[in-house]
Amino acid sequence: MASGPSEFGIIEQYFRRPTVRDDVLLGVGDDCALVQPPPGQALAMTIDTSVAGRHFPEQTAPRAIGHKVLAVSISDLAAMGAEPAWATLSLSLPEAEPRWLEAFAAGLWELADRFGVALVGGDTVRGPLVITTQLHGFVPEALALRRGGARPGDRIFVTGTLGGAARALELLQGGIEPAAALRRQLDLPEPRIEAGVGLRGIATAAIDLSDGLAADLGHILKASAAGATIDAAQLPIAEGVRNGIAEEHAVELALGGGDDYELCFTVPPGWDDTFADLGVPVSCIGVIEQEPGLRVRTASGIAEWGRGGWDHFG
Ligand code: ADP
Ligand code: MG
Repeated sequence: MASGPSEFGIIEQYFRRPTVRDDVLLGVGDDCALVQPPPGQALAMTIDTSVAGRHFPEQTAPRAIGHKVLAVSISDLAAMGAEPAWATLSLSLPEAEPRWLEAFAAGLWELADRFGVALVGGDTVRGPLVITTQLHGFVPEALALRRGGARPGDRIFVTGTLGGAARALELLQGGIEPAAALRRQLDLPEPRIEAGVGLRGIATAAIDLSDGLAADLGHILKASAAGATIDAAQLPIAEGVRNGIAEEHAVELALGGGDDYELCFTVPPGWDDTFADLGVPVSCIGVIEQEPGLRVRTASGIAEWGRGGWDHFG
């Protein structure tokens, strides 16, 4: 860190704050953080690395980058039904640019404060823009939402809306600035912690949507040794996605586009669809079946969704 503030200046100025969590015994500033896990709960741990130009467009506002790198980790905990607690942050920066750091930290802290996350440590180095967040949280072990519990007859739900982030990215890649509401879905995903916790004891399986509904539901199907049919007409396609594109393309974005950070979960057939307050609307989009594979019902029949997208048959 030759230019701008020093490594320790950066840590002091942007990433060291008094913690509001009393389970943080020692935060930023020593060789390790010391934290006190609650008795009787499992520790849920996740780590994600975001590479500029690969996991977010190079020109993304630094505030949005700060939000998103933490949001993707919080989303993983949501998908387990866990509550977030402690984060560590590894920052590789090409240069120590105070305005960039200020905005990045503001985005990170806004989300951390809202979800009760304490930043307890990290690492700061010079290099290409690569950001790794590790997040720890808690869940009673028996109530953790795993991927492998879906059974034939279970219905499949998703929170929120789909395809908005993918449409925004597609527009950006075509040199077009997306409408603000679409752009927000790409830059500022909202992790669904309230939904994950509310689904403890209800959902048989859950996953968060980072790679796209078809791929991520595919992980549930594989772990559960099952298949599914989803109904294209029931997909909650985000507002603005359909503007100027064919319906089939909108459905493809909802199924194949990534970065939604909604939850996909399954519930047993007897469930009456009344969820405690999950903090977000949910949509029933299909059903788990015995026959392996992912099928999509559209107006023109049933199509298999394969690795490369649509694989029409019958
Ligand atoms: P060490 O060399 O002992 O690993 P460092 O000099 O890398 O420690 O970091 C000093 C302190 O600052 C440590 O407590 C570390 O966890 C913390 N830290 C370093 N970078 C960050 C960061 N980007 N965000 C939060 N804490 C950080
Ligand atoms: Mg040390």
